[in-house]
Amino acid sequence: MKSGQLFIAKSKEPLSIRWSRELSSEPSSITISKDRAGRYFVSMLCEFEAKRGRPSPMPISNKTVGIDLGLHDLFITSDGEKSGNPRHTKRYERKLAYLQRQLSKKQKGSSNRAKAKLKVARLHAKIADCRMDATHKASRKLINENQVVCVESLKVKGMIKNPKLAKHIADANWGEFVRQLQYKAEWAERQVVEIDRFFPSSKRCSGCGFVHESLPLSIREWECPECKAHHDRDINAALNIKTAGLAGLVGGA
Ligand SMILES: [Zn+2]
Repeated sequence: MKSGQLFIAKSKEPLSIRWSRELSSEPSSITISKDRAGRYFVSMLCEFEAKRGRPSPMPISNKTVGIDLGLHDLFITSDGEKSGNPRHTKRYERKLAYLQRQLSKKQKGSSNRAKAKLKVARLHAKIADCRMDATHKASRKLINENQVVCVESLKVKGMIKNPKLAKHIADANWGEFVRQLQYKAEWAERQVVEIDRFFPSSKRCSGCGFVHESLPLSIREWECPECKAHHDRDINAALNIKTAGLAGLVGGA
């Protein structure tokens, strides 16, 4: 069935609707909901015939990638690709602060307060949508291109006691990103390997294994004193994560 116009009881005009996907059959039930930002959602229950009862696996790829959470990027890959970070929170932060200030000035119980509250909720929803969109696109691309994706678990990331980084982890939504990688990998019969024990991914030279005693976050590039390799801090970490992930696969850890 081609998705077309939607009429609900008593509506003469079709609803102004944005379809998220095509319907696979006539819906057997329709649920309409409204979120705190005042947006309406229509969910339809449809039947579809799945091949072998599940989404189809992707052809086997011979590519493996390690990814690391960056300070400036959502992630950096062992191939040297930097994702960039939408940083929507930052872009909208000032607007949000302004709207929240307006809200605090409104009298409790007034209709102006209700309107201001809705504006704040709408902006929050917009930020969440942009963030979700970016992580979905990125996780889809990584799973499409690689048979195995190695990541450090959030548990390890949480061990880094750096308030700046901690805020960024929340901003970049690392946990959600890893969750998306995992279910997309499962559908495609590809693999996400989580490294959940401590591993000096940033401080170790991916070339020769030399480990620095400390490497402050401010140092973005360094030269290995042993093998003289020149490293971009984040790409080097992603390379180490890839190595550790593959070692775990082989060793069954
Ligand atoms: Zn080295």
